[in-house]
Amino acid sequence: LLTLTACSQRSQDAGADGASAEAAKGFPANSVIGVALPAKTSENWVLAGDLFTNGLKEAGFQSDVQYAGSSTTVADQQSQIQAMVTKGAKVIVIGATDAAQLSTQVEAAKAAGAVVIAYDRLIKNTEGVDYYVAYDNYKVGQLQGQALLDGMKEKKPEGPYTIELFSGSPDDNNSAVFFDGAMSVLKPAIDKGDVVVGSGQTDIKQTATDGWKAENAQRRMDSLLTSTYTSKTLDGVLSPNDTLARAILTSVKGAGKPVPVVTGQDSEVESVKSIVAGEQYSTINKDTRNLVKQTIQMVKDLQAGKDPQINDTKSYNNGVKVVPAYLLEPQIVTKENAAEAYADDPNLAPLTK
Ligand code: BGC
Repeated sequence: LLTLTACSQRSQDAGADGASAEAAKGFPANSVIGVALPAKTSENWVLAGDLFTNGLKEAGFQSDVQYAGSSTTVADQQSQIQAMVTKGAKVIVIGATDAAQLSTQVEAAKAAGAVVIAYDRLIKNTEGVDYYVAYDNYKVGQLQGQALLDGMKEKKPEGPYTIELFSGSPDDNNSAVFFDGAMSVLKPAIDKGDVVVGSGQTDIKQTATDGWKAENAQRRMDSLLTSTYTSKTLDGVLSPNDTLARAILTSVKGAGKPVPVVTGQDSEVESVKSIVAGEQYSTINKDTRNLVKQTIQMVKDLQAGKDPQINDTKSYNNGVKVVPAYLLEPQIVTKENAAEAYADDPNLAPLTK
């Protein structure tokens, strides 16, 4: 009982004096590590859950991996994080379902002395996020924008090119970062008149895809085809990920239109097949195995009382602070380099043969 009281007293102090991250460094090797993931909106999230469960167990931790449900994602994730805090998790890894709706839970975690790591998606407007680990999202967008231009040029050496723009779910902080990265490449071409957005919809609000849902992208593409492409040719579509790329392709094919150059992200099985078959133009290789491995390394360092390795201290401002980050390099994949890019991936390599 004495120990318990002392413990909870210390947790409260940690929260009050703001030194909670310090308090949590160096903890027993069999501690609970919480992992709160969003809904399974793409294959990478499914894979991440399995890799965290196995990898944390292998490292000797007790893992508690949870997914937010597919409809009530925000409330689900909030209560899952709260439950991890109550269980005494020493580190809570969060793939946020809504970047701006977690400050209460993140601050409760800090007050209890846990370290909070934002995984893949940044958490906004709270001092409580200690670290961010992700593939460089802005770079992902730049690679997508460049692939779109390259793909259209391969098909038709001379412009002008007519395109449409799609972005991800507005509640995911990554969506704007992907879009801004892509626009940093596309905007100069648009300003020159080399590339024209057929519908005129260039604002992120107009291009958004709620919940990263395929049906929402498909519906928007259907309506763009009727409003803008009865006689005009659509040369390319900026799609932020593979799930949406396939929805866009389904829509275009359903309307009996020629297949435009469509970008993607995540190296999903069906999209890699489509790329190899010459349909979807590109995807991004962000090997989930490496991202999870890096995150578990951070947890191990914290457990051992060390500062985890970071390689970026300027890019990710969450509204109240710049979150120290470890960023991994994304890679563009087209038909041309697919075999090489997936050579050491047992699931994808066979698809490129
Ligand atoms: C991830 C993407 C993924 C998307 C939808 C994003 O936050 O970075 O890889 O396509 O979520 O699940």
